[in-house]
Amino acid sequence: MKHPKGLYLLFITEMAERFSYYGMRALFTLYMVAVLFTMEDASEIYGTYTGLVYLTPLLGGYIADRYWGNRRSIIVGGLVMAVGQFLMFLSACLVQQSISAEGGAIDASVDNQASVILMFCALGCLILGNGFFKPNISTMVGDLYDAQDKRKDSAFTIFYMGINLGAFIAPLVCGCFEGNFSDPSRFRWGFLIACLAMIVSVVIFALFKKRYLVTPNGEPIGLAPTAQHKEKHQGSQPLTSREKAHIGVIFIVATFVIFFWAAYEQAGVSLTYFTDSQTDRTLFGWTVPTSWFQSLPAIFCVILAPVMAMLWEMLGKCRIGSSKSLEQSSVQKQAIGLAFLSLGYLVIALGVKDIDPTTKVSMLWITSLYFIHELGELSLSPIGLSMVSKLSPKRFASLLMGVWFMSTAASNFLAGKLSTLYPDGGAAKSFLGYEVSDLNDFFMLFVIMAGVASVLLFIISPKLNKMMK
Ligand code: GLN
Repeated sequence: MKHPKGLYLLFITEMAERFSYYGMRALFTLYMVAVLFTMEDASEIYGTYTGLVYLTPLLGGYIADRYWGNRRSIIVGGLVMAVGQFLMFLSACLVQQSISAEGGAIDASVDNQASVILMFCALGCLILGNGFFKPNISTMVGDLYDAQDKRKDSAFTIFYMGINLGAFIAPLVCGCFEGNFSDPSRFRWGFLIACLAMIVSVVIFALFKKRYLVTPNGEPIGLAPTAQHKEKHQGSQPLTSREKAHIGVIFIVATFVIFFWAAYEQAGVSLTYFTDSQTDRTLFGWTVPTSWFQSLPAIFCVILAPVMAMLWEMLGKCRIGSSKSLEQSSVQKQAIGLAFLSLGYLVIALGVKDIDPTTKVSMLWITSLYFIHELGELSLSPIGLSMVSKLSPKRFASLLMGVWFMSTAASNFLAGKLSTLYPDGGAAKSFLGYEVSDLNDFFMLFVIMAGVASVLLFIISPKLNKMMK
């Protein structure tokens, strides 16, 4: 099935931006724990950062719908993120090793304050910039098609492939510049590459936006709303009850999705610690860098995305003439996504049962987990974007995309919190009455969390399907 050329422009733009985001992210926790923070503090900072990154899309979406339009928002957001990555580079340029002359022990007299301050400024720019970039590029994908075009699910799945192509290559490239406590400033090259990727993304978008970003009738998309349009749509027109029901569905499903990403996003924290310290990473006598494992979900996603896109297309066609609407299965696909997440953790929970903290397990366990999680991500995430695009009243499209990403924000805060429960060989930790004393308990927490959310969403899906009519 043919797709408009604009889809491929958005594909490339988002691919470069995600390369930048995930390249920095692959190094970020490792950079922090090398010399700047303890593992627990790093988890907190990581959770707060990845949480805020997905909170600002609310602001970016609102400003785009109301004032700037998607195009300008994307360019401004992209440039601000490039500045952010450059500040990360500067932070790592100034960082100093903090081992004592005898080696090993941390030397508290080394003051890396300038690096810490620069790092926080960088995070601020990345958080703000992403808010303007992320919801708006996603809205534009939907705008390339007519409202109920059946190609939308597959379009978002292709777009998602771009996201993951970037996310796949980034840790491989930036991961080559993993530093450590004796050479912390080596990280800077990884951050600089992330900065360059961001600039490439903005330049490509700016050069080709006019030519390719048009509706099926050839009208430009993503421009700032005109005064007349604003008057008609934003000032005076109240929501109809149908629109309210649709928005209600977006909010309800977004709430469930929180539990998906909170478990999924462990990839950048606890699962990275697990890969680093409890996984045997030797392959033919060579040790695979920890950050490279963050590429695994993405490559599985790229491989599985065309299969899933074909599947959705086939299912879409099957429904012609039947009473079921496309959206009807969207909610169930979200529930299926959650079920896969739960299953992935179940597999690894069984794999680590009864091992002690010094044992290293085969890398097949973490690999299987990521594979299963990808089946889940592809059922949930691109379909979720497509669903938001179909259900949103046009005048609030980007704002509601921001709402959708808000659930990722909540998840990431939660993910950081949950990651602090990672067993470190010390006393058992507890969360809302749930005791975590070993790895098995830790992984089972996610089995339960995603599993319960999946079942509940399945149960209420008929009601939500009705609201979507
Ligand atoms: N992997 C997706 C991305 O980077 C995740 C988006 C989300 O909603 N959490 O775009």
